[in-house]
Amino acid sequence: MKKIGILGGMSAASTLIYYRKMCELMRDRLGGLHSPELLIRSLNFANIEHLQASGKWDDAGAILNTEARALELAGADFIVLATNTMHKLADQMMSGVTIPLLHIADATAAQIVKAGLKAPGLMATAFTMEQSFYLDRLRAASLQPVIPGAVDRAEVHRIIYDELCADKVTPVSRSVYEDIAQRLTEAGADCVILGCTEVGMLLSQDNVHVPVFDTTLIHCEAAIDMALRA
Ligand code: GLU
Repeated sequence: MKKIGILGGMSAASTLIYYRKMCELMRDRLGGLHSPELLIRSLNFANIEHLQASGKWDDAGAILNTEARALELAGADFIVLATNTMHKLADQMMSGVTIPLLHIADATAAQIVKAGLKAPGLMATAFTMEQSFYLDRLRAASLQPVIPGAVDRAEVHRIIYDELCADKVTPVSRSVYEDIAQRLTEAGADCVILGCTEVGMLLSQDNVHVPVFDTTLIHCEAAIDMALRA
């Protein structure tokens, strides 16, 4: 079994989900007492969020690069960056690192294409919904992403940072997210990407009526597949 290097803490709330989900998946695949070989580096998200909000992306990229190198040195066979947003810095993070990165957008796009769907609605941080690093990756897989309107984008973003990243789940925000997912389908989305690793705390296939692609769960499954591949 390959050793998975998780670069997480962005936020800690979703890294907890990664750990639990990967353990469940490995137990399902191999049975008995099997569990994944993991190295988890969990950063202090307050520092990272500060760099994001002040536009100091190069500094954040330098931190990710240091941590990716450390995961390689510690024996990881590949890297799982447990946040969609920070894939903005994937190239800088992987500079000088020789083990592969399992890219969250590629893993998600592959599942959507496999399901025969084309126009995923995207609910994520403003960075992920508005900048090209993620949208272009989806378009490269022949998908046509649909993003929420400006007011809805601001609300999705606010709930991620003010609540979900602090492990706060409220019925009010769940209902706001359900309405935004609904408006995405009315705008032509044939499925919805939970494009932030915390969005699955509020939405799932149980409360969205088009197919849901939860990037956290998809990323975990792809990681377990990769860990078990010869
Ligand atoms: N976990 C989030 C994501 O998947 C947001 C936190 C971050 O900015 O890293 O984008």
